Amino acid sequence: MTSDRILEIQSVSKYYSRGGQQITAVENVSLEVERMMFTLIRGPSGSGKTTLLLAAGGLMHPDRGKVLLRDQDIYALSPNRRSAFRGRHIGFVFQQFYLVPYLTVLDNVKIPAMAVKIDSLEERSVALLERFGLSERLTHFPSELSTGERQRVALARALITQPAVLLADEPTGNLDMDNEQIIVECLREYARNGGAVLMATHGLRTDGFDHVITLDGGRLQEA
Ligand code: ADP
Ligand code: MG
Repeated sequence: MTSDRILEIQSVSKYYSRGGQQITAVENVSLEVERMMFTLIRGPSGSGKTTLLLAAGGLMHPDRGKVLLRDQDIYALSPNRRSAFRGRHIGFVFQQFYLVPYLTVLDNVKIPAMAVKIDSLEERSVALLERFGLSERLTHFPSELSTGERQRVALARALITQPAVLLADEPTGNLDMDNEQIIVECLREYARNGGAVLMATHGLRTDGFDHVITLDGGRLQEA
């Protein structure tokens, strides 16, 4: 029997140093994420949400603790193998989108294919963009899009590899309520269809999530 547990964050701590002082960004946080679960990490600005997501996604080696993805300890891998593993299994959406300005919408969505083999890349990219209401925008450049449209392109790019785990850091931070609704609904649907989604926000809304955790000063608050 295969477990539905996909991602395990085990006693993760991360400290930064600034001006000779140590800053506790994340302190002893553990979290299990299962398939089909839509998890919210909430907490005020500076509470450690981004640091935790970066650690969870294999982008930042924690000072203590482990991150297991499909039972693989991701920081036990060499940097090259870790980045290949990440490309295959993890998708990221950031608040700042990070679209490539000189590539079209369609080519931005195809970027992950440089690192990972993706079947039917063209068809799937177009289909995803259609689903996000962007079929008229395929050959546009990011600068020609609204903020909400850009965020949907970033989401399509994160989903093109069908990652087991999707990490979304304040994905609605720059959006109006209609666009926020669209993005959250897409993330929820991705979880319902078998993915695991971890979303961070400093907002207060917690309805519609399967699991809500709260960070404060880098520590997990008991609900
Ligand atoms: P959040 O995403 O909840 O706003 P962060 O994970 O970005 O929280 O930050 C947690 C804490 O770590 C904050 O006190 C922040 O100032 C500090 N921090 C984040 N990144 C760095 C860095 N690169 N260098 C020094 N301190 C940092
Ligand atoms: Mg943050």
